Amino acid sequence: MQKHVTIRCKKFLHTSQPSVLQPIAIASLLRLPERKLCLTVQDTLPDLPLLTPVRGEIEIQHQGTCLQVIAQVYAIVTLTCRRCLCQYNERLPVGVSEVIWLDATKSDPQAWPSEQEVPLGDLMEYLPPDGWLDVGQWLYEQISLALPSHSLCRPDCQLDWQPEEATPVDPRWASLSGFDPLE
Ligand SMILES: [Zn+2]
Repeated sequence: MQKHVTIRCKKFLHTSQPSVLQPIAIASLLRLPERKLCLTVQDTLPDLPLLTPVRGEIEIQHQGTCLQVIAQVYAIVTLTCRRCLCQYNERLPVGVSEVIWLDATKSDPQAWPSEQEVPLGDLMEYLPPDGWLDVGQWLYEQISLALPSHSLCRPDCQLDWQPEEATPVDPRWASLSGFDPLE
């Protein structure tokens, strides 16, 4: 039920922002030449480690039973090195081509079997033909997926310190290790 609410609210997420990343009425694509919409993106997206806005092109084409969404964008992202924990910037190119099927039944969470667990990532693969494509949300998901899961500031990054080994206890003092002076 929670997921259902999220989907229905998506189209209102970006309405107050002057951005090309607006939710798009899928049916409105049918009125465009070649049923295709080309967007030039230069936007920031919340909740991503972006140093620069996302720049590039997104192309959305209505193909009758599906949408073909192609994105060629890039951004500079600020990442934390897994090894030395320093922060560094990296150019993140994102090239995606995705098919989103238009299916009124499969895109309706209420029509799913109640006992079936549906991963959140699958939600965007089906949309109702008379529904909306939230381009900002879609792009956010693509960039999230493109972020490196094992980020290194450079391929050969090494720790410049060694983890301290536990100091061996002098056997003569071992009996004192459990000594509590307050006792
Ligand atoms: Zn590093």
